[in-house]
Amino acid sequence: MSAKKRKYLDEYIRFGFVSFHKGDTEVPQCVICFKTLSNDGMRPSRLERHLKTTHPALADKPRAFFETKRHSLKQAKLDGSGAFQQQTSKVVEASYEIALLIAKSKKSHNIGESLIKPSLLCAAELVLGKDSANKLSQISLSNDTFKKRIDEMSQDIKEQIFDQVRASPVFAIQCDETTDITQ
Ligand SMILES: [Zn+2]
Repeated sequence: MSAKKRKYLDEYIRFGFVSFHKGDTEVPQCVICFKTLSNDGMRPSRLERHLKTTHPALADKPRAFFETKRHSLKQAKLDGSGAFQQQTSKVVEASYEIALLIAKSKKSHNIGESLIKPSLLCAAELVLGKDSANKLSQISLSNDTFKKRIDEMSQDIKEQIFDQVRASPVFAIQCDETTDITQ
C-alpha cells in the first residue's frame, strides 16, 4: 500500500515541467503541451524523455525559456483545481488539430469560422446538448488563429527536420533531373 510518492523539485522546470495536483497526488505537467505524466514519471530521465521526444525543437532551450512559460501558465490558471487548465488545453489542442486538417485539405483559412464552427455547434447541440455546444464554442477557429497555428506548425516541422539532419552523421538529397547546374 505504501507506494513511494515522488516529489516535484524546482529544478525540473529545466525540462519544462511544473507541479500539478491531481486530487492529492502530485504529478509533473508539461508547460508546452499541458500533458501530465504519472507520479512515477516525476524524475529527470522521464521528464527529459518527454521533452526530447515530444518537443525536440525545444530540447536545448535555456531554463529561463520554460520559466517564462510557467509564468504564463500561472496567469491562465483561474482556480486551484486545474479544471480550467485541463479544459483550456483540450480546447487549444482541438484548435491545432482542426488547423492541421484545414492545412492538409488546402482549404482557405476562413472555412473554420464560416463552416466548421457552425457545423460543430449545430451537431453538438442536437446530439449532445447545449452544455457540450457551449464547451465547443470555446475552440478558437478564426482566420487569424489558423494562420498563426499553421505557421507555427510548419515552423515546428522545419525545426524538427533540421534537428534530425544535425543529429545524423549522413543524409541524402534527392534531386529531380531538371535540377542541374544550369538552373
Ligand atoms: Zn509536452
